[in-house]
Amino acid sequence: MTNHRSDAVVTVRGLRKSYGSRVVVDHLDLDVHAGEIVGLIGANGAGKTTTVECIQGLRRPDAGMLRVLDLDPVRDADRLRPLLGSQLQDSALPDRLRVGEAIELFATARARNGDELLARFGLAERRRSAFAALSGGERQRLFLVLALLNRPRLVILDELTQGLDPSARRDVWAAVAQLRDEGTTVLLVTHELDEAEALCGRVIAMRAGRVLDQGTPAELMARHAGRATVRFGWGAGPDDLASTLRRLPGVADVTEAGGRIAVHGERQVIAHVGAELVRRGRVPADLDVDVPDLEAALLHLLDTATNPAVPVLTGAR
Ligand code: ATP
Repeated sequence: MTNHRSDAVVTVRGLRKSYGSRVVVDHLDLDVHAGEIVGLIGANGAGKTTTVECIQGLRRPDAGMLRVLDLDPVRDADRLRPLLGSQLQDSALPDRLRVGEAIELFATARARNGDELLARFGLAERRRSAFAALSGGERQRLFLVLALLNRPRLVILDELTQGLDPSARRDVWAAVAQLRDEGTTVLLVTHELDEAEALCGRVIAMRAGRVLDQGTPAELMARHAGRATVRFGWGAGPDDLASTLRRLPGVADVTEAGGRIAVHGERQVIAHVGAELVRRGRVPADLDVDVPDLEAALLHLLDTATNPAVPVLTGAR
């Protein structure tokens, strides 16, 4: 097997899955290595959930090879289940089940301290609450607690922070980063690209059942997000600033209009322009930067993938 590293946690080759005559995952290759947080991003209906469901043995692939923690998710489903922790998109619990009872119900001999996990996710006060009485965000956090309860080696999170308020999102991100630091491998499906940027060491962008590109968020941004821009007011008058800026590393273009200068180019342009302004002893108060983010990269990638006239590179590890 090519590309099969010894720290492989998930190896998918040529995965294909159809619903009826509709192919929704098409010859998909994917790797997740130990200790990584990998994010699946992409358009609605790209096949992300179907892919993670196949990885968990919840769906039977039509074709392809899957190894998860050295097991076959379909044939070895019983052995795999205790090693996985998953928080799925459409999870639900009986309305009257209390939070504390859910912990007891899901805990196995390997379980960690449920109260410690509830406290970590801000649910300690809700131990005696019925599932039906929890807010959307509290439910989401409870599913995360249940996913982590049995010290899984691989955690699969589908739309992890959907419905959480900004502060709860940050807390959940910190908890997921802590999991990674403790050695747990995480595969997450997300539409929140700031989340992918903050958490994922690697992201895989999908559309129509195929991988469009993959890499670190920084790599995808560099390949697809377009230029960074630095803008500031400099006033009129004879000055060699614009011509100096044009010669800085990574600068693609400098425009001047109405006393304002705009410098376009690679990300490092921001640092070089800043250094030049500091050297001249004048940093304009209206200095503004426009840095393309992962969302811009994905939008461009999805756009170019729709238009086959524009070539899309498929990044290899
Ligand atoms: P989203 O971002 O919208 O959650 P996704 O990338 O996770 O999408 P999937 O949920 O894997 O995509 O769905 C891929 C396609 O397969 C969609 O068009 C969906 O409607 C279809 N699909 C999913 N599950 C089934 C099913 N059980 N039967 C028939 N079609 C299905």
